[in-house]
Amino acid sequence: MTAMRKLRNICCGCESCVVHCPRHCIRMQMDVSGDRYPYVDGSLCIHCHQCERVCPVEGSAAERRPLQILAGKNREPEIRKQSSSGGVFSSFGEAIIRRHGVVFGVITSNDAIARYASAKNLAELSEMRGSKYYPVSPVPIFPEVQSALKTGKPVLFVGVPCHIAALRRFLKEIPNHLYLVDLICHGMPSSYIADLYFHQIRKVDLNKNHEKIFFRDKRKGWKNYALSIVSPNAADQYFGTIKKDPFLRGFAQGLFLREDCFSCPFKGFRSGSDITMGDFWGVRRTRAAFEDPLGVSILTVNTQKGGQLLQMEPASKLETIVLTEAELQSSNPNVWQPAPRPASRDEFTTEKITASNFSTVVEKTLHVPMLRFLKKQIKSAISNMLFYLHIFHCIQYLKGGKTR
Ligand SMILES: Cc1cc2nc3c(=O)[nH]c(=O)nc-3n(C[C@H](O)[C@H](O)[C@H](O)COP(=O)(O)OP(=O)(O)OC[C@H]3O[C@@H](n4cnc5c(N)ncnc54)[C@H](O)[C@@H]3O)c2cc1C
Ligand code: SF4
Ligand code: SF4
Ligand code: SF4
Repeated sequence: MTAMRKLRNICCGCESCVVHCPRHCIRMQMDVSGDRYPYVDGSLCIHCHQCERVCPVEGSAAERRPLQILAGKNREPEIRKQSSSGGVFSSFGEAIIRRHGVVFGVITSNDAIARYASAKNLAELSEMRGSKYYPVSPVPIFPEVQSALKTGKPVLFVGVPCHIAALRRFLKEIPNHLYLVDLICHGMPSSYIADLYFHQIRKVDLNKNHEKIFFRDKRKGWKNYALSIVSPNAADQYFGTIKKDPFLRGFAQGLFLREDCFSCPFKGFRSGSDITMGDFWGVRRTRAAFEDPLGVSILTVNTQKGGQLLQMEPASKLETIVLTEAELQSSNPNVWQPAPRPASRDEFTTEKITASNFSTVVEKTLHVPMLRFLKKQIKSAISNMLFYLHIFHCIQYLKGGKTR
């Protein structure tokens, strides 16, 4: 009889331990939360601790402050349109490709909704554009990163912070020609919900229908982005904006994020990346002249090497302005803190959610905070009214006092 035990409670699901275990006794299994975790077969384990040595969660770096904070826009409108934010990823990618280097990032292909791949030319790079809100393991691509580094040409790896940390643990030594760029990340959707939504509810079959998925379709604007599925079969086409699509709505509100994302150990630039990039959601508040309907990025330069990467792209291609730390903090609090865990996360377990009740549960869950919000607004309006009424009475009383 095998005794399977969960390897770690805080785990980003990168699968590094699985591939590095010399006894092959670790397996990923989904638990009731809908997240996949490594489980160890205790009868085979030889307690070599290799799984701990490669685990990014065991060795997250110290908190850092960025050297520089910028807003950025790729000057090519078509690239901004195809990108999630202002298209700064494409600027960095192009700079590396022009130097005959290799870029590693996430694509949608006909064998997976999201997986890591490499790009050596601009056509391959374009496949990486856009965020894919779908869990992906970074580990299968690591050996390819290692061989690309051996050529001595520049290599750019872009991913969420836990993937950057996993790569750093895998490589042990970080050579000067490896540039690490991570994303401001509020979390990954749980594997269960992502699969349920795309495979069972939307019935995506990439292989059969040559479907393409866009998680940040900007047809209705950068801030009103949409999930779209493009297929030659008209019946399989889909378009749902962030205000309508239940997956995007629930994901943005953190209803079904991977449990560990609520206590992410990589906040505060602790992944060890050279540059971090995200959406500059607060652009209108402080830099209205820089706003763009096709999107604006925020980026932080975290190391000297990050500064060198930024310098590789000329100002004729990438437009930037310098921001303050307060602007970063108010626009993207996820840089420093994990997303708060909503109590309703417990409603999105494998036991409670099915293809038939998913949309209803999302709507019901998001409706409750809205009711609570309205109640709060009414309460505060009443207390304001009472306050002003009290002031009015005091003035009347004082006036009355004077005339007496
Ligand atoms: C899961 C996730 C959560 C995010 N959360 C936030 C957030 O809370 N706040 C914020 O400001 N920004 C967030 N971002 C980042 C933002 O969506 C943009 O990716 C970023 O601003 C870069 O945009 P861009 O226009 O420069 O380039 P884009 O062309 O949009 O670049 C996309 C880059 O992301 C990589 N990528 C795409 N999907 C994945 C994935 N599943 N795993 C790893 N890497 C991936 C691609 O390889 C590419 O390099 C998140 C991204 C992801 C993938
Ligand atoms: S301690 Fe060694 S043998 Fe045991 S699970 Fe970890 S890597 Fe595998
Ligand atoms: S974070 Fe990665 S290496 Fe660490 S336990 Fe989880 S799957 Fe394994
Ligand atoms: S929130 Fe943290 S643990 Fe979750 S996907 Fe992002 S970097 Fe990884």
